[in-house]
Amino acid sequence: MIVKTNFIKINTSKNFEIIDVTSKVNELIDIENGIVSIFSKHSTSAIVVNENESGLLDDIEFTLSNLITDNYSYSHDRIDNNARSHLKSFLLSSSECLPVKNGKLDLGTWQSVFFVELDGPRRSRTITLTMVGE
Ligand code: ZN
Repeated sequence: MIVKTNFIKINTSKNFEIIDVTSKVNELIDIENGIVSIFSKHSTSAIVVNENESGLLDDIEFTLSNLITDNYSYSHDRIDNNARSHLKSFLLSSSECLPVKNGKLDLGTWQSVFFVELDGPRRSRTITLTMVGE
């Protein structure tokens, strides 16, 4: 068994942005078979697996903004005014652990891996890839 680590750096350009990182992850996978943990090191972002269809990506943004109301005085806003971004991240996940087969992500036909920016634009968002396998 081997363990390998790599990183993806991303600059985001919008406050809310869903970025497909599937091909970047595949380029950096350095094991043949096993699992890869894809982890965002930020509390106002997320990593998710879903379908890369533009209407669906709009629907995800719409749904998250409806779940987290703007009409509330959040306690965290007294610190840096981004409670909504943290709460959207809380509803999603900071990581996904996915299977690797023959050196690539073993995803379903309609699945992609996304980095979700929830408090952008930001420079140097970091995703850590931890690969365990052979
Ligand atoms: Zn904050």
